[in-house]
Amino acid sequence: MPESALLGGTGLAVTGLAGAGLASTQLASALVATSKAASAEASGAAPDASALAGPSLIGRDRGLLWHPYAPLDGPAPYAVTAAEGVRLRLEAADGERFEAVDAMSSWWSAIHGYRHPVLDAAVRDQAGRFSHVMFGGLTHEPAVRLAEQLVDLAPEPLRHVFLADSGSVSVEVALKLAIQYQAAAGRRGRHAFLALRGGYHGDTFGAMSVCDPVDGMHAAFPSLPAQHFLPRPPAARLDDEGALVSDPAEVAAWVAELERTAQRHRQELAGIIVEPVLQGAGGMHAYAPVCLQALRRVADEHGLLLIFDEIATGFGRTGRLFAGEWAGVVPDVMCVGKALTGGYLTLAALLCSSGVAAAITASEFRALLHGPTFMANPLACAVASASLDLLGSAGWRDQVRGIEGALRTSLAPAAKLGSVRDVRVLGAVGVVELDRPVDVQAVTRAALEHDVWVRPFRNLVYTMPPYVCSAADVEAIGSGIVAAVGEVHG
Ligand code: PMP
Repeated sequence: MPESALLGGTGLAVTGLAGAGLASTQLASALVATSKAASAEASGAAPDASALAGPSLIGRDRGLLWHPYAPLDGPAPYAVTAAEGVRLRLEAADGERFEAVDAMSSWWSAIHGYRHPVLDAAVRDQAGRFSHVMFGGLTHEPAVRLAEQLVDLAPEPLRHVFLADSGSVSVEVALKLAIQYQAAAGRRGRHAFLALRGGYHGDTFGAMSVCDPVDGMHAAFPSLPAQHFLPRPPAARLDDEGALVSDPAEVAAWVAELERTAQRHRQELAGIIVEPVLQGAGGMHAYAPVCLQALRRVADEHGLLLIFDEIATGFGRTGRLFAGEWAGVVPDVMCVGKALTGGYLTLAALLCSSGVAAAITASEFRALLHGPTFMANPLACAVASASLDLLGSAGWRDQVRGIEGALRTSLAPAAKLGSVRDVRVLGAVGVVELDRPVDVQAVTRAALEHDVWVRPFRNLVYTMPPYVCSAADVEAIGSGIVAAVGEVHG
């Protein structure tokens, strides 16, 4: 596609500001702002935040930077001028400024909020020692400490840790591990996976292959490995006793389908991968924990590794430390990420059982065949370690329980809106499902006018707030979402 088409036919080259099609006055003010910031930096003074953000920054961004799943000439982003506690200070392309409660925790990661003194100090202290060293042939205290903490938190027998750079990479490693495990057991033909419709596991090739085939856009990437998919497990809701319940007949039908599919493909399958209890990016769909018990049984029957992707659900988000606890099921392999570093730096981890680790060690290669440059980055490990300490000391269970109650109350009025099909809450996750696709730009802006930052997708306006939100913050999020949906969609 020619660049001019991407830029909406402005006919300008994609070179920073000009490429964004800015008017010459905006261009001039952007350049002034840039040179002000540069001279402040040169003089050693702290740059003025307002000179680094706002419409001029957005202009420099446009046409230059890709944003997630967005066209280069898509809607303008908001510029962040500050982030502190649970609040983001934002500036719109039209110059309007907002101070908004962050309902997203930066895609479910910033559970302790921004600029947390303990997390800031952990990064600073480690930077004062060393920021990165290779992990091949070397080790360091932040990595060892973090792995020890993870093993302490995780259920038995998950006793071995592989540190990866992102959630998607940890999923890649989990898939490779399962294939290596099967080969070690002499089952070389087994390299396919059983996954769920509606699942999401990341954006790299292996991870994409186990995402929902439609939402994961398998048609756009014909070379993805072919996998086997089960229907979404039946929806579950919290009852008054706090149990996740669903229709037993629907569950029985789903389990029968699971058994048939596993039986049919048992010679090709290396493992089963699922997001336990809550499918996140695939639709914020909670399902019956009993389905996890069926998955565990079927995996054992056919010698498959059961992989739980706890990247979104881990560290308390659903009201359990790990979502597998809803069913009392322990997987063979567990991936965690996102909230692992409190949202400070990119890091994920894979944990596996001693049995699986022993099989790899006894295999032809003896090693898990993966080893990225930034494996076990010390800054990321140090802040993850501090974040896990905080999780315990701040009492995540009470925090999440408080958020769950406040979301239930504050989102309830959404059920009366004509455009709303369902309102549901699980742990620190609140979802308003519409009967139509959300007008993302309009709802985002309307929520900002109510001092709340949301990022809806498909037909969902949802929140996964930072655990440190006060009751008033959660009430503001709930009422802001209800108001924004009502104003835009009725
Ligand atoms: N698995 C799940 C369940 C996720 O929600 C995500 C990210 N939304 C990923 C994997 C991928 O993680 P990352 O974006 O860190 O690669």
